[in-house]
Amino acid sequence: MAEPKPVQDRYIFKVAVPVPLYQLFDYLPPPGFDPHKAQPGIRLKVPFGKSEKTAFLWAVSQTDDSGRPLKPVLQILDDEPLLSDKDLALLSWASQYYHFPLGEIIKAAFPAGLRLGKTAQAGVEAGYRLTEAGLQQDPAQLKRAPKQQALLAMLGEHPQGLTETVLTAQLTGWRPAAKALLAKAWLAAGIVAETRPAPLAVAPGLPANAHQQEAIDRIKHGLGKFGVFLLYGVTGSGKTEVYLQVIETVLARGLQVLVLLPEISLTPQLEQRFRQRFGQTGITVSHSRLSDNQRLNAWLAMRQGQSAILLGTRSALFTPMAKPGLIVLDEEHDASYKQQEGFRFSARDSAIVRAKLLQIPVLLGSATPSLESLYNAEKGRYQLLSLPERAGNAVPPRLQLLDIRQKKLYEGVSETLMAAMRQTLDQQGQVLLFVNRRGFAPTLICHHCGWLARCPRCDANLVVHARLGLLRCHHCDQQQKLMPQCPACDGTSLTPLGLGTERVEHMLQAEFPGKTIIRLDRDSTQRKGALQDYLRQISQGHADIILGTQMLSKGHHFPNVTLAAIVDADSGLFSIDFHAPERLAQLIVQVSGRAGRADKPGTVILQTRQPEHPLLVTLTRQGYSEFAAMALAERKAAGLPPFSYQALLRAQARDADTPRQFLQQLADTATSGGLVQIAGPVSAPMAKRAGLYRYQLLFTSASRKALHQCLDALVEDLNRGKPAQKLRWSLDVDPIDWY
Ligand code: ADP
Ligand code: ZN
Ligand code: ZN
Repeated sequence: MAEPKPVQDRYIFKVAVPVPLYQLFDYLPPPGFDPHKAQPGIRLKVPFGKSEKTAFLWAVSQTDDSGRPLKPVLQILDDEPLLSDKDLALLSWASQYYHFPLGEIIKAAFPAGLRLGKTAQAGVEAGYRLTEAGLQQDPAQLKRAPKQQALLAMLGEHPQGLTETVLTAQLTGWRPAAKALLAKAWLAAGIVAETRPAPLAVAPGLPANAHQQEAIDRIKHGLGKFGVFLLYGVTGSGKTEVYLQVIETVLARGLQVLVLLPEISLTPQLEQRFRQRFGQTGITVSHSRLSDNQRLNAWLAMRQGQSAILLGTRSALFTPMAKPGLIVLDEEHDASYKQQEGFRFSARDSAIVRAKLLQIPVLLGSATPSLESLYNAEKGRYQLLSLPERAGNAVPPRLQLLDIRQKKLYEGVSETLMAAMRQTLDQQGQVLLFVNRRGFAPTLICHHCGWLARCPRCDANLVVHARLGLLRCHHCDQQQKLMPQCPACDGTSLTPLGLGTERVEHMLQAEFPGKTIIRLDRDSTQRKGALQDYLRQISQGHADIILGTQMLSKGHHFPNVTLAAIVDADSGLFSIDFHAPERLAQLIVQVSGRAGRADKPGTVILQTRQPEHPLLVTLTRQGYSEFAAMALAERKAAGLPPFSYQALLRAQARDADTPRQFLQQLADTATSGGLVQIAGPVSAPMAKRAGLYRYQLLFTSASRKALHQCLDALVEDLNRGKPAQKLRWSLDVDPIDWY
């Protein structure tokens, strides 16, 4: 690289281009454009290789360190930045902390439309208006270009801009003229929208109980400055009510609120509660099931202050806010806050950084806070607010460990549990049954020769889907017809092995004829609206047994459920991933939280073959807090997060040697300064996936700084060298699972 040399009277645009490269690119300002007017955060159209890209101005500098002749920017797309300084700082931080290319992070932060160079205008048609420079021009100087002159004059009379429809109607051939004015940077895309006021509450809140009131008061006291609140309350303790009342105060001050949820499409009830309290307008929703245009409008509505509340999933974190007041993150322990591919960021951790930059509070809520957050509360970094009781006098459910060793099982369900279900159904109660796998059975085995249905492309078994008559891999798109005969011995003793929701459902239909059984898993809720239909059916009491996977633990209230059961509480006790016990405890408590209410106390039965396991015993006899204290003590003794910091470097290729050697070389040359432990390379827990062999290298350090210095050097090396062909690597900072 050439020595950076200052160039006099020369301004260089440092531009973030959405490509997977760890650098900014240098361009010259467009001819005739006053570089002093360029504000970081505006979009530009730039030539890139053989194509044009919509990119972002990151900084203006007088230093040229490219050592090459520079190309000029083709077009300035915005005359004011789409992101504030602080939001740009957030993206910068994310790029450094997650060691991920800035251009790619921008891709994650902007809705598709804006990345493609669309007008940054909500709900209105595309149009144009004059820039400040344009407004100062005298149309007379354009005598030689009458169309441009006419356009300049017309827009001079309409400073808020004119839509394309109006321009077309009033000035034929305006497009080439607009292009010329854009090149002079006298024109900008987009017209100014009218702003609507933020809504105030339309319905009154519930009278808060003493615990809720204390939480509300403390959060209100913390408004207007940075702070992290951890609202720890069992399901039904009234956390949502606390959010709503605090939000009401924030809105009354004319400020906006960003509410992040793990998966909106799974929690239509929550959206409804927000709309009941604050009305239909002023609340915007953003998640992956919306169209690009809808997401763009939600983004712009927040940026321009037309919307007061945004309910969104993790990617909504980067939505700009005209008047930020508060960030709420519900179910903060949920794994879906961590993106698992591409830009592997944690929306929770990034929300805290964002709030600090914006000097506003963050409110994290959960019935089962993550160990990291509990630890941060213990250290005084977060303020802990507890709601120890269920609101409205509801009684907490009783948790019971049921030893199923040597017991006769009906598709995994013991006689004791079956009897409890029968009794509950006789008393008109609803039963909830958690099974951790979807499909009929996790795999198919030949009873004669031992052949096992394995995915040819993954280190995984094929799952039996009896209803579809298919064997399916849950990790790649592999599927095949369920065969009547063993492919190895031609025998006819193929037997489904293990339990899935479909199989339990089948058994229940035979055991409880005439009862309505609803299965909730990814297969049964694929159709759009199916989940909502099921939830409605359940809440109206038209369901006797609700059976399902993880989905059951995600925020739905099933007030008529008086018996909840976890068919197999042991999976997760013996995983090689140290996060597994925490996940299991959260799942158990979350499923339990679905059962019982004021007049109908609930029971929760956990079937286990490990009735003396300390985790299960502590959790059921003493509760989640005591479990968490125990689990944290174990992590401390083992030097695991949050007592250390980790990053996982994954690599994969079509053969096993390439990724292993690649990681081995990195492990040998990494500069750790003795402060970073490097473990591996080892085969990933799923050694092969979709035909690719996967290896990983784990970095652990007691010093966050040392870890990141090591990673910085590593990423720099990786970008300098040319990695082996067809090898793909990714870096996961603060990994939450090892797969
Ligand atoms: P969480 O979010 O902690 O699960 P919610 O806010 O959804 O709890 O409250 C659970 C139930 O209790 C809801 O039906 C809610 O209407 C009710 N509730 C919450 N706060 C109160 C209160 N102060 N008085 C009466 N009922 C309440
Ligand atoms: Zn066989
Ligand atoms: Zn597969």
